[in-house]
Formats: sequence, C-alpha cells, structure tokens
Amino acid sequence: MSLLNSLIMEHQRISFEEGVDLLKFASLDELKSKANAFRFELNPKKEVTFVLDSNPNYTNVCNADCSFCAFYRKPSAKDSYTKTVEQVLEHFEIARKAGLTTVLLQGGLNDDLKIEYYEELVRAVRKYYPDLYPHLFSAPELWNVARVSHLTIEETLKRLWNAGLRSIPGGGAEIISERIRLSISPKKMEPGAWIDVHQTAHRLGYRTTATMMYGHVEEPEDIVNHLEEVRNLQDLYGGFTAFIPWSYKRDRTALRRRVDSWVGDHAYLRIIAFARLYLDNVAHIQASWFSEGRDVGMEALHSGADDFGGIVFEENVHKATGFVHKANHNDVLEMIREAGFEPVQRSMLYQILRRYAPGEIVDLPLSQIEGTSIPRQLSVIGK
Ligand code: SF4
Repeated sequence: MSLLNSLIMEHQRISFEEGVDLLKFASLDELKSKANAFRFELNPKKEVTFVLDSNPNYTNVCNADCSFCAFYRKPSAKDSYTKTVEQVLEHFEIARKAGLTTVLLQGGLNDDLKIEYYEELVRAVRKYYPDLYPHLFSAPELWNVARVSHLTIEETLKRLWNAGLRSIPGGGAEIISERIRLSISPKKMEPGAWIDVHQTAHRLGYRTTATMMYGHVEEPEDIVNHLEEVRNLQDLYGGFTAFIPWSYKRDRTALRRRVDSWVGDHAYLRIIAFARLYLDNVAHIQASWFSEGRDVGMEALHSGADDFGGIVFEENVHKATGFVHKANHNDVLEMIREAGFEPVQRSMLYQILRRYAPGEIVDLPLSQIEGTSIPRQLSVIGK
C-alpha cells in the first residue's frame, strides 16, 4: 500500500518528512485523486465558488527590488506613480460600475506613504463604497508602513482595523524560507515577517489568505516547509480563508537569468493536490484560470481545488511580466460549468452570494464587456 493510501485510510495528518516524500515521489494521478476525494469530504457539493473582484494598485514605487518582480519602479522612473486617495477611489468607482463585490488593493513598498495615507484610504472606501469589500495591503506593505511610521506591526494593524479594514491579502509570501528570501528578495521585510504579520492579524480578528509563489530557486523541502508554516499558524487562530499558489513568471524579471524555464502545468497541479492534502485545516484551495491559464485552472478543479478565484477585472502585476488572461463574469461561469461543476458566486469571506440556474448567463455591465481601461477623469467623492 502506498504511503498516501495508508495515511488517508488512517486519517492521519501528513508529517513534514512524509510530505517531502509524497511531493517528490507520489504519482500526480494518485495525488490528484486523493486530493479530490478529500476536497469533497471538506466541501461536499459539486459546486465551485468564485468572486467578482478587481486588483488595482495605488503605487508602483518600491524599495524592495525583488528579483522576480516586473511591476515595481524606482521613484525617479518616468513611469513610476503614486495615486492620491481620491485617485485610488476612482478604481473603486470603476469596480462598482462593473458590478464587482471585492477590491484587492496592493502596491509597492513606498517610503513616502505613512500610516495616515492608508487610514484615510480605508475610511474613504468604507464611507463611499460600503458595498465593495476591501481586501487591502499585503504583509510586506504593512511591514513597510509600520517601519516608516515608527509603529509596531500590531499598532499598524490596530489603526487600520479602527479605520474599518477587516481582511488582508496573502501576497508577498513567495516561499517562507530565510535562505530563499536572501536569494530572491533580500530587501523585502525581515526573517519571519510574513508569518508575524499574518499571526498578529489573525490574533486581532482579521481574515487573510495564504499564498505561495513557486517555480524559482526552491526545493521540494522548501515547499513543504512553507505549507507547514501555514498549517501551524492555522492551528492557532484559523484565520486563513484559503490557500492560493501561483507559478513564477520569468519574463521581464531579473531572476530569469537564474531560472532556466517556466516550471510548467504539472508542477501546478501537483502543488494544488499536495496542498489540499497537507493543509487539512484550511477550508479552501483556490485554482486560478488567471495565473495559470484556462485549461490548467479547470483541471485544478479536479485536483483538490474547490474555488476558482475571481474575475480579476483589473490587474497589473502579472501583466507586467507579459502574462495576460482575461475573463468576465460569464466566461468564469462557462469555465466552471465546462469543468463539470455548478458555479456559485461568493464574497471575500466565502459567504454564498448567488447561485445560478443551469446554463444561466448574466447581463454584463458595459464596462465588463469593454474591458478594464481606466478613464482619465472620474468624479468620485460625494457621488
Ligand atoms: S514584489 Fe512587491 S515588494 Fe517586491 S519589488 Fe515587487 S512590488 Fe516591491
């Protein structure tokens, strides 16, 4: 009997050593089939959830120089930008007009932006866009805000909580390993900071997502260790809503000189399946048509994932590497159905917002049909 079979039959938590063994040597078919069975144990309905969301950015100025990133700019670069709060709200207005429910907002580590900017932004979003759920500021940004504002992480998170923030995205984790941080992003945060920020956030009552960017300089042991860190923190507070992996995209990044090629589809499916089995305390595993492509995203729904991410109406970070996939509300419904599941629209916190009749298509707001071009001028505040 295989190691995986015996673990599943005994309903045992997979240990670190067993995890390394499985990730290295178990067949992809076996991982997928066991992960899929476990997915249906945790989420029994033949439904796949998704969110109507957008991922705009407020600044591309960043001091971290991560070698895998094509998005950031130095402050002196001609195409660097930092938006005022009012300019950021224009993106929320666009999201509202596009019929979205969630905005995930992130930016670079910009030393000119102190806590007051972030507080004002959260308060304004809560006041003017109460129907758009704000999922704002990843751990590295929060760490940098604390640093330049001379606050602790806890003080920073408490001030943003008081302004109205309740959930933060999991970006910036890459692979949780000091060796890898030093290798690919040595100026970003400090040892253990991603976990520290999320642990503090969970203790204060925030919900967050856990992410992982793989396919660069990591070894299988690093991936298992990353999942172990996530699982251990989840045991403490249960604050992660989902786990979201994506592959490193090489184009236009400095790191491509050290990474021969893109890691490929099988690696993604393997990680989705393995993560479903290893993270036995995280409710949802997210598949992504957006970061990995339509067909692989759909295949991931048969490999342990129960969620399809969002429609990602506006996005610039993947786009900076030349990797662009687009879909609207109906496209996502179609992909989920084609994969053999019923689509269900959810909120950021996985509350069910809408079920659909078989084959139902929705009327799209004009902006979802036209795409994501941002009008130069939008009068927002007070409307
Ligand atoms: S990944 Fe984030 S922190 Fe790193 S350079 Fe890009 S914007 Fe800056």
